[in-house]
Amino acid sequence: MSDFEIETVDAVEDVDQDAGPAPVVAVVGRPNVGKSTLVNRILGRREAVVEDVPGVTRDRVAYDAAWSGRRFTVVDTGGWLPDSSGLAAAIAEQARLAVDLADVVMFVVDATVGATDVDEAVVEILRRSGKPVVLVANKVDDVGAESDAALLWSLGIGEPHPVSALHGRGSGDLLDAVLDALPEEPPAETFGEIGGPRRVALLGRPNVGKSSLLNKLAGENRAVVDSVAGTTRDPVDELIELGGKTWRFIDTAGIRRRHRENQGADFYATLRTRSALERAEVAVVLVDADQPLAEQDLRIISMVVESGRSLVIAYNKWDLLDEERRHYLEREIDRQLHTARWAPRANISARTGRHMEKLVPAIETALEGWGTRVPTSKLNQFFADLVNSHPHPVRGGKQPRVLFATQAGVRPPRFVLFTSGFLEEGYRRFIERRLREEFGFDGTPLDITMKIRE
Ligand code: GDP
Ligand code: GDP
Repeated sequence: MSDFEIETVDAVEDVDQDAGPAPVVAVVGRPNVGKSTLVNRILGRREAVVEDVPGVTRDRVAYDAAWSGRRFTVVDTGGWLPDSSGLAAAIAEQARLAVDLADVVMFVVDATVGATDVDEAVVEILRRSGKPVVLVANKVDDVGAESDAALLWSLGIGEPHPVSALHGRGSGDLLDAVLDALPEEPPAETFGEIGGPRRVALLGRPNVGKSSLLNKLAGENRAVVDSVAGTTRDPVDELIELGGKTWRFIDTAGIRRRHRENQGADFYATLRTRSALERAEVAVVLVDADQPLAEQDLRIISMVVESGRSLVIAYNKWDLLDEERRHYLEREIDRQLHTARWAPRANISARTGRHMEKLVPAIETALEGWGTRVPTSKLNQFFADLVNSHPHPVRGGKQPRVLFATQAGVRPPRFVLFTSGFLEEGYRRFIERRLREEFGFDGTPLDITMKIRE
């Protein structure tokens, strides 16, 4: 074992970013045992704040990390000691929080001090939780101190891993142990694999102009009919070249065929929409600009949002509009589409070809928002700022706050917020709005869930 085992770890960017949610590793321990120093060591850079004053609330707590190609989120719980009465109680509370949210707990003990009563109390909590615990015997700066580490077997939670967070000694072995304790790697998200043409569904109620648009796009551009085997209704897709790229338009046979069916057959339309959405990455919902927005239009938009696909709204038949109607739409669209204000829009005419060239950029914007991943450190900086500038209103003497957040996935972006109480609907909407302002996410629904620690 060399004295300077690791200086840097894998760059997080080198690791597959789409391989599902990253497991959470929480770092727990008394003040000054070296938690933040250890987190910095794991990150391979000075990012976590090392405090000289114990108990000061640190803003940033969660970071992206990777070791041996495995991605995980490190959470430094050292900052969670707000208005605590006694140190022991506060550390116990911190341990409970950590246990709730973490997949693995790194319990840090200062080997030069040995196990204290507070350490023993934390061990009790960790043991009861049943979560995997990796015991870190820190400040073992040289071989001579290794016997101090061995004494920590007495805590009864397994092997103490001697490390020097300050110098890096032993940290490679420690990270191997953490990796061993992580849950099985979830299968990579099978949906929306990179490569192959992106999959587009043209949706909308009967007569909005789906087949007209399809004919326009396919007619003026190179189109190839492609049958997809193995699907029950045997839909046929069309590969159409637009804006220099090939796109797969889903179930175009269904769009064309429905002409011969009963145009009012709502049931089949809904069925078609559902199955097209299953295979699509982005939906272009056509709306008849010349007609009042109908219940059915909103229902289709809701179906897209609920399916978690990205969304573009195309107002078709723009050629039929008089000046008055245009002004009306410009004023009213946002209010009418309040559930999907974030969707890129295009005002087109499948008949005249108006603004056809605006469709592809809108689709690309939506797909980009759909696949956006925000680095954990950025996300937590965002929440730290948000919680400071716009705290949740006090309710019953309590003020719930976001402790930390992680993005659990993409397509669509999924966030998990770990909070110290229930966040009201209004505040959750505010969070979504601010997330969109800060990071874009145009054209994509966001999936935000809370994990509450009461
Ligand atoms: P935290 O309160 O648990 O986050 O502890 P910090 O990371 O802030 O470290 C507390 C003090 O211990 C700092 O002065 C660190 O430089 C020091 N320290 C941390 N790790 C080591 C180590 O491995 N060896 C030695 N000798 N000092 C360390
Ligand atoms: P679908 O049922 O959604 O596939 O709609 P169609 O493409 O069959 O169009 C329904 C009717 O609307 C047809 O008579 C089309 O000619 C007409 N239509 C489609 N797009 C436009 C458009 O942009 N402008 C005008 N004026 N008529 C359109």
